[in-house]
Amino acid sequence: MTVPFLDLQAINQSFGQPLIDAAADVIRSGWYLCGNQTAAFEAEWGEYCKMPHAVGVGNGLDALRLVLQAWKIMFGWQDDEVIVPANTFIATPLAITQAGLKPVFCDVNQHDALIRTDSDYLDTLVTPRTRCIIPVHLYGQLANLTEIYQFAQQHRLQVLEDACQAHGARAIYNNNVRTCAYSFYPGKNLGALGDGGCVTTHDETLAQLVRMLANYGQTKKYVHDYQGINSRLDEMQAAILRVKLRRLDADNHRRQQIAAFYADQFGSNQPAAVQDGTHVYHIYPYLTTDRTTLQEHLNSCGIQTLIHYPVPCHHQKAYASEHSKVFPNAEYWCSHELSLPISPVLTDEQAQFVVKSVLSF
Ligand SMILES: *Cc1c(COP(=O)(O)O)cnc(C)c1O
Repeated sequence: MTVPFLDLQAINQSFGQPLIDAAADVIRSGWYLCGNQTAAFEAEWGEYCKMPHAVGVGNGLDALRLVLQAWKIMFGWQDDEVIVPANTFIATPLAITQAGLKPVFCDVNQHDALIRTDSDYLDTLVTPRTRCIIPVHLYGQLANLTEIYQFAQQHRLQVLEDACQAHGARAIYNNNVRTCAYSFYPGKNLGALGDGGCVTTHDETLAQLVRMLANYGQTKKYVHDYQGINSRLDEMQAAILRVKLRRLDADNHRRQQIAAFYADQFGSNQPAAVQDGTHVYHIYPYLTTDRTTLQEHLNSCGIQTLIHYPVPCHHQKAYASEHSKVFPNAEYWCSHELSLPISPVLTDEQAQFVVKSVLSF
């Protein structure tokens, strides 16, 4: 038996004719950008996320960056500081840097790899220049929103949720001031057939400004109030996403089922399964002190695994000025995490084989 890490071919095949019809409709329509499909997807995604505004953009990095650029304009920020966890995909700090802001890396929890909110940890990072905090819903699990929004309120900070791995994770918390950035990179829980992204928010002013900035800073055709960029969700991707959105809850449920099975089989030295809907298991992280040999063993069994992420952001060459910082938990996850196969098309037999192969190691 072979178990690919993520079989995108099988996933997209499983949507059958409706996906092909959606693409054919766009081809026939003669309209490929800023049209009905994108508008319809934005409306459907906003409703699905229970957010009044959704703005399609080119990718997840731009979703993050455009929100920061819009806030910079709205609030008159300069080269101010943004708090961000040290173990995330590089796009999160890059969005900060590209918006002309300064990332201030922080540590994560030992038990779940999410941004630390215990005791007064975050308070120690705040300076007079701090403007924003970006919790990352890493692996598909929501960060502790109650504590993060409370912290932000105390220090008058904006909160930008990096939800690029957490499509459909259900927030118990809701305060009507949320802003989330999504990516529809093909491998995400809701994935396009190319690049795509979206900003969802309660703030109408922010939504309008992001829309302008993503479309050349244009207020109307050939009138440019801002130095914007070109970052739009196209009609083809929107049409594809509309079909795939209809199955997102069912797909996430299947991921949660597999995760519950894994966690049950692996027992107490692995993170317990999260079963309240706040985790959509984009990634199933397995922690091991023997990662290289376990990965080789699984590979020889025909099981593909990946590492999320092998190098924390503050150790990347791109952030050389941060190399002296120490974030023990972020570094722990980066040196012990192995991502096991999990997806809506993973079969029970495959999941059992993964467990058997891991436990036989
Ligand atoms: C995928 C991802 C992004 C970036 O999304 P792109 O669409 O590839 O630009 C940002 N943050 C996190 C946590 C991600 O997983």
